[in-house]
Amino acid sequence: MRLSDDRYSGERSQFELALRMIRHEARTRTIRECTGLSDDRIRKLYTTYFRNSGNLTVKRRRGKSPRQVTRYVKNPENQNQATTLVALFYAGMLIRIDREHRVHACWPRPDVEFGHRLCRAYETYLLLHENAKLSFEWAWNLLQCISYNDELYLAHCRGCEARYVQDAYALDYRTCPACCMDLPGGSRRRKSG
Ligand SMILES: [Zn+2]
Repeated sequence: MRLSDDRYSGERSQFELALRMIRHEARTRTIRECTGLSDDRIRKLYTTYFRNSGNLTVKRRRGKSPRQVTRYVKNPENQNQATTLVALFYAGMLIRIDREHRVHACWPRPDVEFGHRLCRAYETYLLLHENAKLSFEWAWNLLQCISYNDELYLAHCRGCEARYVQDAYALDYRTCPACCMDLPGGSRRRKSG
C-alpha cells in the first residue's frame, strides 16, 4: 500500500512538473530530462490540458535548446536579466558560488526537484522583469553555461562591487549592467543624484 502511495505521489509530481514546464513553453526534450516521462506521455499531457482546453497561447516547442551565450550579454538589459536569473539559481540552491566567485552546479543531473526549483526561479524572474527577454529555454541554457565557467563567468563591478554575468571572450570594462543603465544599486546613480 505504502509503495503504491509513494509511486502515485511520485507520478503526480512528474505530471505537475510537466504541466508547469509546458506552461513556460519548455521543449519536449527539456521536460523529458527533468520528469523522466516519455515523449509520448508529454505529448498526451499537452494535448489533454492545453490543446483541447482552448488554451492556445501555450506553444509546444520542439528541437534543441538555444546555445549562443551572446544572448545573455548583448546589451545591458539582457545582461541585467541574466544576472537576476543567476542570483535566483543561487537562491534556489541550483548552483553554489565559491570564494573565487566560480559557479558550481548543485545537481549532478536534472530530476523532478531540480525542475520545480528551476520553474520557481523562472517564475520569480518573470515577476521581477515585466519585459522579460529570456525564455524558459534560455534560462535553462544559462544555468548550464554558467555552471561550466567556460564561456560565461561572474565579473566584478568596480563601481558598485556587484557581480554580473559576463562573456569570457569579450572585453570586460568592469561595469555592471545596473551601473551601465543607471539603475538603482548602480554607482552612476549615486554620482548623478
Ligand atoms: Zn555596478
